[in-house]
Amino acid sequence: MNLKEIYRENGAFLEGHFILSSGNHSEYYLQSAKVLENPKVAEELATALATEIKKSGLEIDTVCSPALGGLLAGYELARALGVRFIFTERKDGEMQMRRGFTVSKGEKVLICEDIITTGGSALEAGVEVEKQGGEVVGFSALANRGFCQRVNSNIEANEKCKLPTEKPLFALEDFIFDIYQPENCPLCKDGSIAIKPGSRGN
Ligand code: ZN
Repeated sequence: MNLKEIYRENGAFLEGHFILSSGNHSEYYLQSAKVLENPKVAEELATALATEIKKSGLEIDTVCSPALGGLLAGYELARALGVRFIFTERKDGEMQMRRGFTVSKGEKVLICEDIITTGGSALEAGVEVEKQGGEVVGFSALANRGFCQRVNSNIEANEKCKLPTEKPLFALEDFIFDIYQPENCPLCKDGSIAIKPGSRGN
């Protein structure tokens, strides 16, 4: 499976000159919601990810995603693994488990995001699960941006990765591309103007 190609075909891998949520600039932007708007594609990706996870023999009772980004990938992954799905969400900036979701003591929970960048939201979702007595057994995402190390990849975690190194991270592929501080952006130097993805009405 060529994940980058699937993203591109579905208009989820944008090329141009973008302002990322961090404020940095990049030639590329990943819009996972676009690849997941087709449930058939979402199912295929989640099934491939579930196959990788099952190979590891990891025991999982539940998938939990941080909203909003992780919801679709997590829900499809839970379906592919045959386990239940819950989510955490931010309220007043703080990650919380709401809507009557509960986690049992010792319940084995896999955290799922669409894309793992530094893993900040995934980690916060995991903290919520553990507050309720659950056990976070690992992390997962469709793609890994290359800050953290995933199972079956030689790319090593760097200091920006927030995920605990002793827990596995599963993803279908590494999506690595350069990001620039605005003042050092070669695209800006060439006279191009960075845009926020979605700001042109798409
Ligand atoms: Zn720029």
